[in-house]
Amino acid sequence: MLNTLRKIVQEVNAAKDLKAALGIIVQRVKEAMGSQVCSVYLLDPESNRFVLMATDGLNKRSIGKVSMALNEGLVGLVGTREEPLNLENASEHPRYRYFAETGEERYASFLGSPIIHHRKVMGVLVIQQKERRQFDEGEEAFLVTMSAQLAGVIAHAEATGSIRGLGRQGKGIQEAKFVGVPGSPGAAVGTAVVVLPPADLEVVPDKNVDDIAAELLLFKTALEGVRADMRALSAKMASQLRPEERALFDVYLMMLEDAALGNEVVKLIKTGQWAQGALRQVVSAHVNRFELMDDAYLRERASDVKDLGRRLLAYLQQARQQTLVYPDNCILVSEELSPAMLGEVPEGKLVGLVSVQGSGNSHVAIFARAMGIPTVMGVVDLPYSKIDGIQLIVDGYHGEVFTNPSELLRKQYAEVVEEERQLTQGLDALRGLPCETLDGYRMPLWVNTGLLADVKRAQERGAEGVGLYRTEVPFMIRERFPSEKEQLAIYREQLQAFHPLPVTMRSLDVGGDKALSYFPIKEENPFLGWRGIRVTLDHPEIFLVQTRAMLKASEGLDNLRILLPMISGIQELEEALHLIHRAWGEVRDEGVDIPMPPVGVMIEIPAAVYQVRELARQVDFLSVGSNDLTQYLLAVDRNNPRVADLYDFLHPAVLQALCKVVEGAHAEGKPVSICGEMAGDPAAAVLLMAMGFDSLSMNATNLPKVKWLLRQISLGKAKELLGQVMTIDNPHMVHSTLQLALRNLGLGRMINPASNIQA
Ligand code: PEP
Ligand code: MG
Repeated sequence: MLNTLRKIVQEVNAAKDLKAALGIIVQRVKEAMGSQVCSVYLLDPESNRFVLMATDGLNKRSIGKVSMALNEGLVGLVGTREEPLNLENASEHPRYRYFAETGEERYASFLGSPIIHHRKVMGVLVIQQKERRQFDEGEEAFLVTMSAQLAGVIAHAEATGSIRGLGRQGKGIQEAKFVGVPGSPGAAVGTAVVVLPPADLEVVPDKNVDDIAAELLLFKTALEGVRADMRALSAKMASQLRPEERALFDVYLMMLEDAALGNEVVKLIKTGQWAQGALRQVVSAHVNRFELMDDAYLRERASDVKDLGRRLLAYLQQARQQTLVYPDNCILVSEELSPAMLGEVPEGKLVGLVSVQGSGNSHVAIFARAMGIPTVMGVVDLPYSKIDGIQLIVDGYHGEVFTNPSELLRKQYAEVVEEERQLTQGLDALRGLPCETLDGYRMPLWVNTGLLADVKRAQERGAEGVGLYRTEVPFMIRERFPSEKEQLAIYREQLQAFHPLPVTMRSLDVGGDKALSYFPIKEENPFLGWRGIRVTLDHPEIFLVQTRAMLKASEGLDNLRILLPMISGIQELEEALHLIHRAWGEVRDEGVDIPMPPVGVMIEIPAAVYQVRELARQVDFLSVGSNDLTQYLLAVDRNNPRVADLYDFLHPAVLQALCKVVEGAHAEGKPVSICGEMAGDPAAAVLLMAMGFDSLSMNATNLPKVKWLLRQISLGKAKELLGQVMTIDNPHMVHSTLQLALRNLGLGRMINPASNIQA
């Protein structure tokens, strides 16, 4: 049975459109079940009726004509009850409805199963038979399993149809929404430019050649060509990215070196294989090895190798990529976006990015954030190869992409984009003003940093300090651990840039979805595994070098604060503090005279919430990592698009935990900050201020909006609102209460810019 199911699904997956897919379904299911009729009814959202879309057994002329309302017929019953229905004699059922045009009077028994995708009924799959009989349990189970499997396939085929401007009935433009994960915040409306791999390496055949020297020469020329391209691209992006961020291009160049990939290809050519075949073999061996790894960062390397392989092939085939035309408001779409693809778009034209694969942790997402380009990653259901040239909306706040957006939606998003632009412009005026409420309360706003671009933006927007410097970023864009000296230089630059404002440097926080290519961590359940402080305590040499570099970097500046991530209890904290003191002693022994910097703990694990007072007692400050705290409190993977709608930092449990943390920290006389994404959400920031957080740390893009909103409200009003919200037990109600309250205060425009759009 499993085999039959798999075969049908495969065949349906390969169908060219929805009509063909449904045709295959009815034919194959009928055969597999030995029934006389198999039909698919799909729910037409416009008329809200189940329409017969395909049948094998009933009169084909009734396709598209027979339909029933939700409260009509057995199909309507299956669809509304969302349960299978198995009847020996359908015509005896009170809900039976007779359609003369289908010729169904001849069929007695009926088995129907709802087709449900992401909780939504899409249609009903039905089989019928002449003789009166109850379908057995096995048959029922088969049909239910089939419907469940087909739901996704039908949704995908439908989406593809809508992309081509075809509705269910084959006409009319339909807007479709595809969900991925946010890569970089912001919204964009523009035209899709699909970047296909320049050459298809996978289909290159093996071929033996006699003229080995000629093949070697061809390959050498290709290598030189790609090297030159890489250098040119790197230079082109020089103004936008700092050297470390451009290091990826150097990685590409290194891979091309004779001793690496290049040499392997040469060896194979020397055995008599033609250059293209040799290249395919070498690249696919490397790619396979990387792709089999569970580690997200290493899988990214596979895409780098693939990208490089394609570029070389393009040269070998002497079919250099047909020059792409980049329109204004260009949204770059690819199965696997690479940083190199970004560099090829002429400056000023790129407004958005969409990648079918990858996550917010991919290189390209890191680059996109640094460059401030709205990006959606991991849009796995997007039939990307079919969308070149069509209108797209990229919603980088929610991780959504809309194809063929309606005039209305386009207008709404264009307004968001324009509003964003005006706001940013208008908010520039706030730069020199304090974040002070109407009743004179000062709320310090800090920034989160990692890339060089963050520094400039933070300074432009009047940040009062750095609440979180993610030190793993410079680690991630390298090919080995940076030395103490290299780290010192990076940290010094950061400390100097903000001096005399405080800079909170977090100790290396890798693991989970953040891995280093040169330090792979392969785990079944990485978010509950070897992460953050757990890694660095197990590798004191890494921790000590980093701490020493931070301390030395702060010489004469004295604006360093050290922050420890992923602390789950006292023992870890004490061990980390011990190491920090040791590093401090070592640095002083070396003659560098620096005071011991303030040390803080991140509260991002539920255990730390319950031990907040014990932790606070031992440190100088606390900082809540609400991104992780939310994922651990709600047991929702922060990177998984399937459960993205359950991830909610305004969940009452999260709000209660936050109040407890503030209370505990203050009871011990210690300041507490928050540096998760929540702090940069203007509406949430109102609640956080009311809870008593001593500072809010956010990305520089959101800082002016938060400042604007907090300057329009009084602390008294914010506290009143918090009091009201804390009595609510339902997250949806929290959202609506908050939105309504702010709207009533005339502050609606600053709440999540795209939150009003219903699509
Ligand atoms: C957090 O978890 O909220 C946080 C700020 O750290 P990161 O997002 O880097 O895990
Ligand atoms: Mg975290």
